[in-house]
Amino acid sequence: MTSAFIFSDDTILCRQMPDGWWPLQVPYSESDVISADSCSNSNSQHAYQIGHVALLESLAPSHWQVNTHSSIDKNNDDKANNSVDGLPSIDAESNGINPINTFTAQASSAMTYDYALAHNVTLPISAESSGNAFVPYRQLITQLPIALTDQLSQALQLLRWQADTQFCSRCATPVVHAKRDERAMVCPACRLRQYPRVQPCIITAITRPNPQTGEMQILLAHHHRYGQQKTPTQALQYGLIAGFVEVGESLEHAVVREVAEEVNISLTDIRYVSSQPWPFPSNLMLGFRASYAGGDLIIQEDELSHADFFDLSNLPKIPAKGSIAYELIAQIMNENGMTL
Ligand SMILES: [Zn+2]
Repeated sequence: MTSAFIFSDDTILCRQMPDGWWPLQVPYSESDVISADSCSNSNSQHAYQIGHVALLESLAPSHWQVNTHSSIDKNNDDKANNSVDGLPSIDAESNGINPINTFTAQASSAMTYDYALAHNVTLPISAESSGNAFVPYRQLITQLPIALTDQLSQALQLLRWQADTQFCSRCATPVVHAKRDERAMVCPACRLRQYPRVQPCIITAITRPNPQTGEMQILLAHHHRYGQQKTPTQALQYGLIAGFVEVGESLEHAVVREVAEEVNISLTDIRYVSSQPWPFPSNLMLGFRASYAGGDLIIQEDELSHADFFDLSNLPKIPAKGSIAYELIAQIMNENGMTL
Protein backbone atom coordinates (compact mmCIF):
# COMPACT_ATOMS: atom_id res chain seq x y z
CA MET A 1 0.00 0.00 0.00
CA THR A 2 1.31 3.41 -0.91
CA SER A 3 -0.21 6.88 -0.99
CA ALA A 4 -0.64 9.77 -3.38
CA PHE A 5 -1.53 13.44 -3.44
CA ILE A 6 -4.59 14.09 -5.62
CA PHE A 7 -4.52 16.96 -8.13
CA SER A 8 -7.09 18.67 -10.28
CA ASP A 9 -5.26 21.16 -12.53
CA ASP A 10 -3.43 23.54 -10.16
CA THR A 11 -5.43 22.48 -7.08
CA ILE A 12 -4.70 19.77 -4.50
CA LEU A 13 -7.15 17.74 -2.42
CA CYS A 14 -6.78 19.01 1.17
CA ARG A 15 -8.37 18.73 4.58
CA GLN A 16 -9.25 21.79 6.64
CA MET A 17 -7.33 21.65 9.93
CA PRO A 18 -7.30 24.16 12.82
CA ASP A 19 -4.07 25.64 11.44
CA GLY A 20 -5.13 25.68 7.79
CA TRP A 21 -5.28 23.36 4.81
CA TRP A 22 -3.14 20.20 4.66
CA PRO A 23 -2.88 18.00 1.56
CA LEU A 24 -4.46 14.56 1.95
CA GLN A 25 -2.41 11.47 1.20
CA VAL A 26 -4.75 8.94 -0.35
CA PRO A 27 -3.77 5.28 0.00
CA TYR A 28 -3.91 2.98 -3.02
CA SER A 29 -2.62 -0.42 -4.03
CA GLU A 30 0.11 -0.26 -6.66
CA SER A 31 -0.89 -3.65 -8.06
CA ASP A 32 -4.45 -2.44 -8.71
CA VAL A 33 -3.14 0.54 -10.66
CA ILE A 34 -0.77 -1.61 -12.73
CA SER A 35 -3.39 -4.24 -13.51
CA ALA A 36 -5.84 -1.55 -14.58
CA ASP A 37 -3.21 -0.31 -17.03
CA SER A 38 -2.29 -3.69 -18.43
CA CYS A 39 -5.88 -4.92 -18.76
CA SER A 40 -6.91 -2.07 -20.99
CA ASN A 41 -6.45 -2.34 -24.75
CA SER A 42 -3.46 -0.65 -26.39
CA ASN A 43 -5.26 2.57 -27.32
CA SER A 44 -6.67 3.28 -23.91
CA GLN A 45 -3.47 2.08 -22.23
CA HIS A 46 -1.81 5.18 -23.59
CA ALA A 47 -4.40 7.43 -21.97
CA TYR A 48 -4.45 5.33 -18.80
CA GLN A 49 -0.79 6.03 -18.11
CA ILE A 50 -1.17 9.80 -18.09
CA GLY A 51 -1.89 11.36 -14.72
CA HIS A 52 0.25 9.40 -12.26
CA VAL A 53 3.82 10.33 -11.30
CA ALA A 54 6.36 9.14 -8.74
CA LEU A 55 7.90 11.87 -6.57
CA LEU A 56 11.54 12.21 -5.55
CA GLU A 57 11.98 10.48 -2.23
CA SER A 58 14.54 13.08 -1.18
CA LEU A 59 11.83 15.78 -1.39
CA ALA A 60 9.60 13.92 1.08
CA PRO A 61 8.91 15.25 4.58
CA SER A 62 11.27 12.76 6.27
CA HIS A 63 14.12 14.68 4.64
CA TRP A 64 13.00 18.06 5.97
CA GLN A 65 15.84 18.40 8.42
CA VAL A 66 18.30 18.83 5.54
CA ASN A 67 16.26 21.67 4.07
CA THR A 68 17.69 24.99 5.19
CA HIS A 69 14.96 27.21 3.80
CA SER A 70 13.90 29.69 6.49
CA SER A 71 10.15 29.15 6.06
CA ILE A 72 10.45 25.71 7.58
CA ASP A 73 10.91 27.29 10.98
CA LYS A 74 7.44 28.73 11.08
CA ASN A 75 5.86 25.49 12.27
CA ASN A 76 8.40 24.80 14.94
CA ASP A 77 7.20 26.99 17.77
CA ASP A 78 3.62 25.94 18.34
CA LYS A 79 3.88 22.40 17.05
CA ALA A 80 7.22 21.31 18.44
CA ASN A 81 5.58 19.18 21.11
CA ASN A 82 3.23 17.23 18.90
CA SER A 83 4.90 16.85 15.57
CA VAL A 84 6.24 13.94 13.61
CA ASP A 85 8.73 14.79 10.90
CA GLY A 86 7.64 18.39 11.11
CA LEU A 87 4.03 17.60 10.30
CA PRO A 88 1.27 17.90 12.86
CA SER A 89 0.58 14.58 14.46
CA ILE A 90 -3.12 14.11 14.61
CA ASP A 91 -5.01 12.09 17.13
CA ALA A 92 -6.99 10.33 14.47
CA GLU A 93 -9.77 8.98 16.66
CA SER A 94 -10.51 12.17 18.55
CA ASN A 95 -10.62 14.12 15.31
CA GLY A 96 -12.81 11.57 13.56
CA ILE A 97 -10.26 11.23 10.79
CA ASN A 98 -9.42 7.97 9.14
CA PRO A 99 -5.93 7.15 10.48
CA ILE A 100 -4.67 6.37 6.99
CA ASN A 101 -5.27 10.00 6.06
CA THR A 102 -3.13 11.55 8.75
CA PHE A 103 0.01 13.32 7.67
CA THR A 104 2.64 11.09 9.18
CA ALA A 105 2.94 8.90 6.08
CA GLN A 106 4.86 10.24 3.14
CA ALA A 107 3.20 10.31 -0.23
CA SER A 108 5.48 8.76 -2.83
CA SER A 109 3.38 9.74 -5.81
CA ALA A 110 0.76 12.07 -7.17
CA MET A 111 -2.19 11.43 -9.44
CA THR A 112 -4.91 13.41 -11.08
CA TYR A 113 -8.50 13.15 -9.94
CA ASP A 114 -9.40 11.64 -13.34
CA TYR A 115 -6.66 9.01 -13.05
CA ALA A 116 -7.84 8.07 -9.56
CA LEU A 117 -11.40 7.62 -10.80
CA ALA A 118 -10.25 5.54 -13.80
CA HIS A 119 -8.27 3.22 -11.50
CA ASN A 120 -10.97 2.89 -8.83
CA VAL A 121 -8.84 4.56 -6.16
CA THR A 122 -11.10 5.33 -3.21
CA LEU A 123 -11.10 9.10 -2.76
CA PRO A 124 -12.09 10.99 0.40
CA ILE A 125 -15.29 12.95 -0.02
CA SER A 126 -14.61 16.45 -1.31
CA ALA A 127 -18.07 17.90 -0.58
CA GLU A 128 -18.13 21.21 1.30
CA SER A 129 -19.44 19.63 4.51
CA SER A 130 -16.62 17.04 4.62
CA GLY A 131 -13.87 19.52 5.51
CA ASN A 132 -12.05 18.46 2.33
CA ALA A 133 -11.59 20.61 -0.73
CA PHE A 134 -9.36 21.15 -3.74
CA VAL A 135 -7.16 24.12 -2.76
CA PRO A 136 -4.98 26.11 -5.22
CA TYR A 137 -1.20 25.61 -4.91
CA ARG A 138 -0.73 29.40 -4.83
CA GLN A 139 -2.81 29.50 -1.63
CA LEU A 140 -1.06 26.52 0.01
CA ILE A 141 2.43 27.94 -0.55
CA THR A 142 1.69 30.82 1.83
CA GLN A 143 0.94 28.48 4.78
CA LEU A 144 2.61 25.06 4.36
CA PRO A 145 6.24 24.18 5.19
CA ILE A 146 8.48 24.76 2.19
CA ALA A 147 9.53 21.09 1.93
CA LEU A 148 5.92 20.04 1.48
CA THR A 149 5.20 22.72 -1.10
CA ASP A 150 8.37 21.68 -2.97
CA GLN A 151 6.94 18.16 -3.23
CA LEU A 152 3.58 19.47 -4.41
CA SER A 153 5.40 21.75 -6.87
CA GLN A 154 7.25 18.77 -8.34
CA ALA A 155 4.00 16.83 -8.65
CA LEU A 156 2.26 19.73 -10.37
CA GLN A 157 5.08 20.10 -12.91
CA LEU A 158 5.40 16.37 -13.65
CA LEU A 159 1.66 15.86 -14.10
CA ARG A 160 1.53 18.80 -16.52
CA TRP A 161 4.64 17.55 -18.36
CA GLN A 162 2.99 14.14 -18.82
CA ALA A 163 -0.20 15.68 -20.14
CA ASP A 164 1.77 17.92 -22.54
CA THR A 165 4.19 15.20 -23.75
CA GLN A 166 1.99 12.57 -25.40
CA PHE A 167 3.56 12.66 -28.88
CA CYS A 168 7.13 12.56 -30.19
CA SER A 169 8.25 16.12 -30.97
CA ARG A 170 10.40 14.81 -33.84
CA CYS A 171 8.10 12.35 -35.66
CA ALA A 172 4.70 12.83 -33.96
CA THR A 173 4.28 9.15 -32.98
CA PRO A 174 2.41 8.65 -29.66
CA VAL A 175 5.06 8.20 -26.94
CA VAL A 176 5.16 5.69 -24.08
CA HIS A 177 6.57 5.94 -20.59
CA ALA A 178 10.16 4.86 -20.07
CA LYS A 179 10.64 2.17 -17.42
CA ARG A 180 8.99 3.02 -14.15
CA ASP A 181 12.11 4.35 -12.49
CA GLU A 182 13.11 6.72 -15.31
CA ARG A 183 11.36 10.02 -15.88
CA ALA A 184 11.14 10.13 -19.66
CA MET A 185 8.68 9.69 -22.49
CA VAL A 186 10.06 7.47 -25.27
CA CYS A 187 9.12 7.38 -28.94
CA PRO A 188 8.61 3.74 -30.04
CA ALA A 189 9.38 4.69 -33.67
CA CYS A 190 12.52 6.88 -33.55
CA ARG A 191 13.56 6.29 -29.89
CA LEU A 192 13.71 10.02 -29.06
CA ARG A 193 13.53 10.48 -25.30
CA GLN A 194 11.76 13.53 -23.91
CA TYR A 195 12.52 14.61 -20.34
CA PRO A 196 10.80 17.19 -18.11
CA ARG A 197 12.32 20.62 -18.68
CA VAL A 198 13.16 23.29 -16.16
CA GLN A 199 13.15 26.95 -17.25
CA PRO A 200 15.79 28.97 -15.38
CA CYS A 201 14.57 32.40 -14.35
CA ILE A 202 16.59 35.00 -12.42
CA ILE A 203 15.11 37.30 -9.77
CA THR A 204 17.19 40.08 -8.24
CA ALA A 205 16.95 42.21 -5.10
CA ILE A 206 18.88 45.45 -5.74
CA THR A 207 19.81 47.70 -2.82
CA ARG A 208 21.42 51.09 -2.25
CA PRO A 209 21.60 53.57 0.63
CA ASN A 210 19.05 56.42 0.36
CA PRO A 211 21.12 59.31 -1.17
CA GLN A 212 19.59 61.79 1.35
CA THR A 213 19.22 59.83 4.59
CA GLY A 214 21.50 56.83 4.19
CA GLU A 215 18.68 54.40 5.03
CA MET A 216 18.92 51.16 3.04
CA GLN A 217 16.57 51.06 0.05
CA ILE A 218 15.42 48.26 -2.25
CA LEU A 219 14.34 48.51 -5.88
CA LEU A 220 10.75 47.38 -6.41
CA ALA A 221 8.65 47.49 -9.57
CA HIS A 222 4.96 47.36 -10.33
CA HIS A 223 4.32 45.02 -13.26
CA HIS A 224 1.33 45.49 -15.53
CA ARG A 225 0.43 41.85 -14.87
CA TYR A 226 -0.14 42.65 -11.17
CA GLY A 227 -3.18 44.70 -12.29
CA GLN A 228 -4.15 48.33 -12.01
CA GLN A 229 -5.39 50.24 -8.98
CA LYS A 230 -9.19 49.88 -8.88
CA THR A 231 -9.83 52.23 -5.94
CA PRO A 232 -7.64 55.08 -4.58
CA THR A 233 -7.10 53.17 -1.32
CA GLN A 234 -6.13 49.85 -2.91
CA ALA A 235 -2.43 49.04 -2.35
CA LEU A 236 -0.53 48.31 -5.56
CA GLN A 237 1.52 45.12 -5.54
CA TYR A 238 5.27 45.54 -6.17
CA GLY A 239 7.92 42.93 -6.89
CA LEU A 240 11.57 42.36 -7.78
CA ILE A 241 13.07 42.47 -11.27
CA ALA A 242 12.90 38.99 -12.80
CA GLY A 243 13.16 37.33 -16.18
CA PHE A 244 14.01 34.17 -18.09
CA VAL A 245 17.59 33.17 -18.81
CA GLU A 246 18.22 33.22 -22.57
CA VAL A 247 19.88 30.30 -24.36
CA GLY A 248 23.63 30.78 -24.26
CA GLU A 249 23.95 33.32 -21.42
CA SER A 250 25.22 32.88 -17.88
CA LEU A 251 23.00 33.56 -14.85
CA GLU A 252 25.04 36.67 -14.02
CA HIS A 253 24.64 37.93 -17.56
CA ALA A 254 20.89 37.38 -17.33
CA VAL A 255 20.76 39.46 -14.12
CA VAL A 256 22.66 42.36 -15.72
CA ARG A 257 20.67 42.20 -18.97
CA GLU A 258 17.22 41.97 -17.38
CA VAL A 259 17.90 44.85 -14.99
CA ALA A 260 19.31 47.03 -17.79
CA GLU A 261 16.31 46.21 -20.03
CA GLU A 262 13.64 46.77 -17.40
CA VAL A 263 14.99 49.72 -15.37
CA ASN A 264 18.14 50.95 -17.18
CA ILE A 265 20.56 50.79 -14.24
CA SER A 266 23.91 49.06 -13.81
CA LEU A 267 24.88 46.75 -10.95
CA THR A 268 27.83 45.74 -8.85
CA ASP A 269 28.44 43.00 -6.28
CA ILE A 270 26.07 40.48 -7.94
CA ARG A 271 25.75 37.35 -5.83
CA TYR A 272 23.59 34.23 -5.82
CA VAL A 273 21.45 33.63 -2.71
CA SER A 274 19.02 30.71 -3.13
CA SER A 275 16.59 29.07 -5.53
CA GLN A 276 12.95 27.99 -5.62
CA PRO A 277 11.09 25.75 -8.06
CA TRP A 278 8.01 27.62 -9.26
CA PRO A 279 5.48 25.45 -11.09
CA PHE A 280 3.90 28.12 -13.32
CA PRO A 281 4.70 26.65 -15.76
CA SER A 282 8.00 24.97 -14.80
CA ASN A 283 10.43 27.66 -13.66
CA LEU A 284 13.46 27.43 -11.44
CA MET A 285 13.69 30.85 -9.75
CA LEU A 286 17.33 31.73 -9.05
CA GLY A 287 17.49 34.44 -6.40
CA PHE A 288 20.28 37.03 -6.60
CA ARG A 289 21.24 40.16 -4.72
CA ALA A 290 23.13 43.11 -6.16
CA SER A 291 24.09 46.68 -5.34
CA TYR A 292 23.12 49.68 -7.44
CA ALA A 293 26.13 50.98 -9.39
CA GLY A 294 24.75 53.80 -11.53
CA GLY A 295 22.27 55.07 -14.09
CA ASP A 296 18.85 56.77 -13.94
CA LEU A 297 15.74 54.64 -13.51
CA ILE A 298 13.96 54.42 -16.87
CA ILE A 299 11.27 51.75 -16.90
CA GLN A 300 10.43 49.42 -19.78
CA GLU A 301 6.85 50.54 -20.26
CA ASP A 302 5.74 47.34 -22.00
CA GLU A 303 6.26 45.43 -18.74
CA LEU A 304 6.31 47.94 -15.88
CA SER A 305 4.09 50.84 -14.85
CA HIS A 306 6.38 52.09 -12.04
CA ALA A 307 9.69 51.30 -10.34
CA ASP A 308 11.60 53.04 -7.58
CA PHE A 309 13.97 52.55 -4.66
CA PHE A 310 11.89 52.28 -1.47
CA ASP A 311 13.17 52.84 2.09
CA LEU A 312 13.01 49.56 4.03
CA SER A 313 10.89 51.37 6.64
CA ASN A 314 8.31 52.32 4.01
CA LEU A 315 7.81 49.37 1.65
CA PRO A 316 4.73 49.02 -0.58
CA LYS A 317 2.75 45.77 -0.80
CA ILE A 318 5.20 42.97 -1.73
CA PRO A 319 4.78 39.31 -2.85
CA ALA A 320 3.29 36.86 -0.32
CA LYS A 321 5.22 34.72 2.11
CA GLY A 322 6.37 31.49 0.46
CA SER A 323 7.73 33.26 -2.63
CA ILE A 324 11.46 33.71 -3.17
CA ALA A 325 10.88 37.46 -3.60
CA TYR A 326 9.54 37.58 -0.04
CA GLU A 327 12.54 35.58 1.24
CA LEU A 328 15.06 37.89 -0.46
CA ILE A 329 13.35 41.03 0.89
CA ALA A 330 13.05 39.47 4.36
CA GLN A 331 16.78 38.69 4.35
CA ILE A 332 17.63 42.33 3.59
CA MET A 333 15.21 43.54 6.28
CA ASN A 334 16.80 41.20 8.84
CA GLU A 335 20.29 42.44 8.01
CA ASN A 336 19.07 45.95 8.71
CA GLY A 337 17.46 45.07 12.04
CA MET A 338 13.87 44.97 10.77
CA THR A 339 11.31 42.23 10.23
CA LEU A 340 8.64 41.82 7.56
ZN1 LIG B 1 9.75 9.84 -32.81
